[in-house]
Amino acid sequence: MDKSLLLLSFLLISSCATSERQANTVHFAGEIVNPTSDYVVLYKGDSALDSVSLDENNRFVMELDSVDEGLYNFYHYPEYQYVFLESGDSLQIRLNTHYFDESLVFAGEGEEVNNFLIEMFLAHEKEEDLIYDLYKLEPDDFCNRIDSLSEIKLVQLEEIHQETPLSEEAYKIAKASIDYNTFYYKEPYPYYHKKKKGEQSMHELPDNFYAYHNNVDFDNQEFTYLRPYYNFMKYHLGNLSYINCKKGCMTANSKMVKNQLHFNRHQLYMIDSLVQQEVLRDNLFRNVAFEYLLKHDSEENIERFIEEFHNLSGNNRHIDEIDRLYLAIKKIQPDKALPAISVYDASGKQRSLDELSKDRQVVFYFWSAPQKGHFKNIRKRVTELKSEYPEYTFIGINLRTDLGRWKTMLDEYQLDKSEQFWAEDYEEVAHALVVYDPFKSIIAKNGTIVDAFANVYSSF
Ligand SMILES: [Zn+2]
Repeated sequence: MDKSLLLLSFLLISSCATSERQANTVHFAGEIVNPTSDYVVLYKGDSALDSVSLDENNRFVMELDSVDEGLYNFYHYPEYQYVFLESGDSLQIRLNTHYFDESLVFAGEGEEVNNFLIEMFLAHEKEEDLIYDLYKLEPDDFCNRIDSLSEIKLVQLEEIHQETPLSEEAYKIAKASIDYNTFYYKEPYPYYHKKKKGEQSMHELPDNFYAYHNNVDFDNQEFTYLRPYYNFMKYHLGNLSYINCKKGCMTANSKMVKNQLHFNRHQLYMIDSLVQQEVLRDNLFRNVAFEYLLKHDSEENIERFIEEFHNLSGNNRHIDEIDRLYLAIKKIQPDKALPAISVYDASGKQRSLDELSKDRQVVFYFWSAPQKGHFKNIRKRVTELKSEYPEYTFIGINLRTDLGRWKTMLDEYQLDKSEQFWAEDYEEVAHALVVYDPFKSIIAKNGTIVDAFANVYSSF
């Protein structure tokens, strides 16, 4: 979530309270049990439309003068969920942040489609392990199982639709949330099947396996932020690029598809040729850029990639963010100096990363207090590494934690204070050191970077 965007939305929210409720206004209200922030923010795509604070009873009310019918998101830090709005809707939500999605219930005008969407969301989450297991099946069996899961949901949708007819748009979104999830399950089948079965080559697929490709809609703007749709699109473009490369480039060099720069250029051209809808196009381009750049290719290759990216998507709405990431990655290549980042030790003294790696080999790793599971895992892993690799000093950099809480945790878990440091500005550190992977680590020696894309699990 973009912080500046949120801030802007708080400033822009007008206080024009309408005295009379009009037929086309939307009333969106609710109660948040165990709130984790003071606000509820309503988003359409990337834009914040309204933000209201919770009252003393943890309730909020949003009155919107007019809304375009469609899919929105409401955000209550740090989580968000869909809400489908239409003119005249009067919706109440209730949720408990301890079980955010599971506890969410909609009531009032517009409740049917909203409760259905959250139900589908939960069903898909629940199915994940089962689906992964089904990839071991042969193509026809696999498709039958996936189709029958989808059929149950479609029947459920028809029942709701018959009882309380949904608007055309609501029906479309509800149906798309089922269909694109089905496509999303099927799209990576050959890759997961090969992996699951340990087969040498990709399985032959029946001719009609990808028949649903004919029903893919690249142009429906309302689907852009529907998660099953976007998740499917990412797989779909990757898959089409793979097929394309295999057909076109494999004869010249059979390993071409494994070359990251080569493959991701295919992806860029595939998006360029298939996707016209601007927001989706920009988001998919951005996704390829992030995935590729974070994979840690050579400096020469990332330069070529970004040049190509600018040629195809120079006007991308995310271009600043992508350029910033690219520049940050360029600065932490091997043999370059550690970025000038300051952290604090337990006595409050400011220290630079450079200083911390002076005359020794260090491994910087990252953790934050709210991620308890991660903290436990990384603590365990670092303890192992410390005894296995005594030549390194392992230095924990704490992010996104209140200073007082961090200090309490140092004592509570008896962490070695000479090896623990606290970062004040999370965004600055995360950006400069490109911390996107929770197990990312940076190996440095005497102020110089050895590997800024190491991982506490895979690099040792
Ligand atoms: Zn190729």
